[in-house]
Amino acid sequence: MSTLDPLEAGTVALVGGGPGDPGLITVAGRAAVEQADVLLVDHLAPQGALAWARPDADLIDVSKLPRGAFTSQERINELLISHARAGRRVVRLKGGDGFVFGRGGEELQACAAAGVAVRVIPGVTSSVAVPALAGVPVTHRGLVQGFSVISGHVPPDDPTCSLNYRALATSGTTLVVLMGVANLAAISRELIAQGVAPATPAAVIARGGHPDQEVRTASIAEIADAAVGINPPAITVIGEVARWAAATSSLTPSFAMQEA
Ligand code: SAH
Repeated sequence: MSTLDPLEAGTVALVGGGPGDPGLITVAGRAAVEQADVLLVDHLAPQGALAWARPDADLIDVSKLPRGAFTSQERINELLISHARAGRRVVRLKGGDGFVFGRGGEELQACAAAGVAVRVIPGVTSSVAVPALAGVPVTHRGLVQGFSVISGHVPPDDPTCSLNYRALATSGTTLVVLMGVANLAAISRELIAQGVAPATPAAVIARGGHPDQEVRTASIAEIADAAVGINPPAITVIGEVARWAAATSSLTPSFAMQEA
């Protein structure tokens, strides 16, 4: 089966919608949105893509706002399963890729356990695309050979934090931090304590791919202060490549790389 095969009645498609700009959804993702009888959508999904939904399709908002009102994952799973069992073509549309700090894996397993046919249509993950939209390559030949993507939703000293910050600090990779706005000061402090040079460039990119994309740059020692006033969704890039972060988006005609 190809991701492009038509959705069948009584099945679910988990669609990664990309980081917010409707142009960054895949061809298969768009086709699924067009065919859906019911769409379960959250706040990071590309809202512009909903214009492609059939006029008679049901839109269900299952947003999980940070620290705000939310629909539980169990409820989302129930909705996917019950609508599919009612014979509908169900699309779960999320921002980015559903398997990168999304709960797409749980949705996949819940559908499979319920005997509901489910397909995964991967999306363009914001962890790579948002830096790209700001002109930041997460790897660069001769400069950095890899990148590590981490979630900053719990601070480094939290007992539930499973990351090895010493290993991250000495990994020699670009660090890409998602869900890290609230804990940016604690994360950068810990990385410096574990060996990252305080002068290492960092960039915070908020609302990547949206018309109001915003970029702040500073050394890792100063990035938390520079990012005061930034609200999620935002991504922090730490590493030499962050020095190329451009104030404008690669989607705007005025985009130009800053001099290294
Ligand atoms: N599955 C998603 C990530 C979900 S976690 C993906 O692959 O992109 C949510 C985090 O993603 C946010 O806290 C933020 O760090 C990041 N994010 C998602 N969309 C973004 C955007 N348009 N601009 C900046 N960051 C974004």
